[in-house]
Amino acid sequence: MSAADTSAKRGGGLGDVHVPEIHDLANRLRFAPQQGRIWLDDQRMMLMHVSSLGALRQELIESLGKETARGLITRIGYQAGASDAEMAKKLRSGSSTYDNFLAGPQLVSLEGIVHCEPISLDIDVGKGRYFGDFRLIDCAEAEAHLASYGIADEPACWMLVGYACGYTSTFMGRPILWRETECKCTGHSQCRVVGRPAEDWGEDAADDLRFLQIGDFVKFNPTSPDKLPATARIAARGPASGENDFGMVGISSAFNSVCHLVKKVAPSEATVLFLGESGVGKEIFSHNLHRLSRRADGPFVAVNCASIPEQLIESELFGVEKGAFTGATVSRPGRFERAHGGSLFLDEIGTLSFTAQGKLLRALQEGEIERVGDHKVRKVDVRVIAATNVNLRDAVKEGSFREDLFYRLNVFPIRVPPLRDRRDDIPLLMNWFMRRSAAKHGKTITGFRERAVDALINYRWPGNIREMENLVERAVILADEGGALDLCHLFTTGEEVTSTTFVVQRDGALSQSVDMDEIDFTQGPGGLPTLADTEARMLRLALAEAKGNLSLAARLLGISRATLAYRLKKYDIAS
Ligand SMILES: [Zn+2]
Repeated sequence: MSAADTSAKRGGGLGDVHVPEIHDLANRLRFAPQQGRIWLDDQRMMLMHVSSLGALRQELIESLGKETARGLITRIGYQAGASDAEMAKKLRSGSSTYDNFLAGPQLVSLEGIVHCEPISLDIDVGKGRYFGDFRLIDCAEAEAHLASYGIADEPACWMLVGYACGYTSTFMGRPILWRETECKCTGHSQCRVVGRPAEDWGEDAADDLRFLQIGDFVKFNPTSPDKLPATARIAARGPASGENDFGMVGISSAFNSVCHLVKKVAPSEATVLFLGESGVGKEIFSHNLHRLSRRADGPFVAVNCASIPEQLIESELFGVEKGAFTGATVSRPGRFERAHGGSLFLDEIGTLSFTAQGKLLRALQEGEIERVGDHKVRKVDVRVIAATNVNLRDAVKEGSFREDLFYRLNVFPIRVPPLRDRRDDIPLLMNWFMRRSAAKHGKTITGFRERAVDALINYRWPGNIREMENLVERAVILADEGGALDLCHLFTTGEEVTSTTFVVQRDGALSQSVDMDEIDFTQGPGGLPTLADTEARMLRLALAEAKGNLSLAARLLGISRATLAYRLKKYDIAS
């Protein structure tokens, strides 16, 4: 089948399609070796040996048979292509349809899969028209397949074809099917793929489409263009689309195991104790616990024990009878009574007074409370969910927390990890808070600048998710309408930010991810300088450039004035 048969808007002759510069995409590739992570925008990536891929393919083919292995490998490719299509749409949102689409073939090159050369390309997203013809040079998958099996009778770049299907189907919003018309595995000098809407392939499209299905339960009708294969639907939901059924954002295993535990324990009546630093979202988890419990129709009452003065906490929790103390002019129920039939969330439980602890223990054990200044015993039906950011075991040892209460509360402890232990979630959370804040303040924000992404990914987040929420909201307010969030909008109150990520330079080498655009940085002789040397030198350069003006120097470096002052002091540089 020849590509030139179909009229194409671009191309028709070899190499006629203009491919845009790749820097916008390459700038999104970040190496963070100190975290053991590689990021491509907000996707976590991993370097894999082509020889390992070859061994994996071979094992799949030999244990599952060629058909099943091909299906599996094609779908893995589909998934990757669909993710990249979401990213391409975002990163090249302002570009022409062609440049936007060509991000896919460029990403494939950036990811080291293959070098793509468009021969001809015709896209009309609105009309659903698509035709693509690409030459693929030095495909890693073909190399792996050839190493295992030598020259074959049919094309074998399954993952690549899956990628092309996933990318183009997601990009077009309709199923686009690709086929290899030439393959290195069948003795051609290079691979070549052609893509068009599934229904344009006619009857035999079903043969290819079966490799894209997830299991038999998915029935895909190639004549119905708006029905995407299951893989496409999963990808369309997208890893970046946001909230899970908890109304929270996260893909990390640490986050998901907390969600899993909450779902498990919710239907029981067990007392649950959330452990973790301030700002990790303990209250949101406990609210979800209530929502998923049998008490969902009952009240959810939340109390932060630390925010109520010690002398008032008892009457607040257990209620008060008129005349119990000066000022108690009316009787009123406490939070326990108000939570009757539902759940009571007690945050910062470690701050409770000893008397209140005793009363709480009784409420937990007997389901009974007494209002302050009253001797009438009242029955309450309340599930207690507690949370603490201190180590209660230590508090027991120190004698500030009752041991019997600790064991009563510690029936089902759930540890919520700090944000720095779930770094995979940082990009998702950043974007989520950005979209939410932008909507709240009626602003259009295009995203984050690369160095801002670096800083946010590297930052230690002592205040956890709450800190990020506030930081991003403040940045959205500070940023220009229609602009991107930059370092100067984010870290404005002297937060300690260090960069330990590396970016790909134009020559392909990695360099530390400091924005070089504004600074003329001359490389010193004699090998690599240390990070500290480099940083100190950049500070001096910026100071010189700004003629000693600290605010200007800070702006040049994209850091706050306070951070600059801190750094200057650290390196003992006179300002
Ligand atoms: Zn091939």
